[in-house]
Amino acid sequence: MTSANNIYSLALTGVQQLVPYKPGKPIEELQRELGLSKIVKLASNENPLGPGKKALAAIQLVLSELALYPDGSGFDLKQALAKKYSLDAGQITLGNGSNEILELVARAFLRPGLDVIFSQHAFAVYPLVTQAVGASAVVVPAVNYGHDLAGMLASVTKNTRVIFIANPNNPTGTLLSQADVEAFIAALPDTVVCVLDEAYFEFVSRTEPVDSISWLKKYPNLIITRTFSKAYGLAGLRAGYSLSSPEIADILNRVRQPFNNNTLALVAAEAALGDEEHLNQTISVNAQGMQQLTAGFKTLGLEWIPSAGNFVSVDLRQPGQPIYEALLRKGVIVRPVGNYELPNHLRISIGTQAENEFFLQALADVLELAAANIETTAGAV
Ligand SMILES: *Cc1c(COP(=O)(O)O)cnc(C)c1O
Repeated sequence: MTSANNIYSLALTGVQQLVPYKPGKPIEELQRELGLSKIVKLASNENPLGPGKKALAAIQLVLSELALYPDGSGFDLKQALAKKYSLDAGQITLGNGSNEILELVARAFLRPGLDVIFSQHAFAVYPLVTQAVGASAVVVPAVNYGHDLAGMLASVTKNTRVIFIANPNNPTGTLLSQADVEAFIAALPDTVVCVLDEAYFEFVSRTEPVDSISWLKKYPNLIITRTFSKAYGLAGLRAGYSLSSPEIADILNRVRQPFNNNTLALVAAEAALGDEEHLNQTISVNAQGMQQLTAGFKTLGLEWIPSAGNFVSVDLRQPGQPIYEALLRKGVIVRPVGNYELPNHLRISIGTQAENEFFLQALADVLELAAANIETTAGAV
């Protein structure tokens, strides 16, 4: 008979050593634990305005159809995306969140013996999907918290099969210039698949428009991933997609589950694409909130990593975990980033004006307390 512990030895080596992704703390969990009435969650880069009116209306219209399987080809959503980006629908792969696309890439292109390159401080899902399929991660040290593209290029060997680049990156918010990213892709051997993760591209300031889609014509090994979770406010529905050569889309669609996008996600995402008012409002609230938070950090004498996304990582010059916990007791959920090798930072998602203010006040209180505690401890020695 097999003991329950032995079951672990049956799993793939990579899976045995896998530490699952740790999401931001849900509001309900903190409510259960502390019985607080007011909780502000700025932990998962969600849209503080919620979903748009058009997405909500579209969901209402299909509720009575939920006994039917969704459209497994996602025809309407793909048509809408193809039109928006002037691409062929055959270049689009829909995912249950863009996270699923990252997994599909790993499943379709990786195996033990092949390498995946990504940057230090890069999105936590890259090491997860790499390890789950038994491939090896090559982590290139960051420069100023951002991707060192020259270092990443220098790390390419004949074993390299996939490279992940997040632009902007999460949790640092660092942004690579369009010219630098294109030069990097152009320099890659055609045996390497390059995933350009643009989960936050909508928030990038319009002074340098994102034009990565125009590169698809030149680079059949390029995969651009985008999502409805962040700027479009639909994180709870799980809808993301990739844009690529038709060949890569064909490969990804072979390993995709037939009904990976649910009916509500499909119709809400399509409606959200046509809701420019909601998107513009989201971008403007984000820009104002970024100003508000960074001005608050300045007042507190704190530095932060300049961010192009809808979040900002602040340097506390002391371990972030205790500050994170003290903020929880005040009803504010932010994100510790020690698991990203940023032990002294906390990542704050941009909220509404009132949420940002509530957080800044809580942070000021907690830091004052932290300073007082350090003095007491020092005095006691
Ligand atoms: C949030 C995020 C994603 C994807 O989220 P989905 O909800 O799965 O679409 C992808 N990449 C980065 C860098 C992210 O921060």
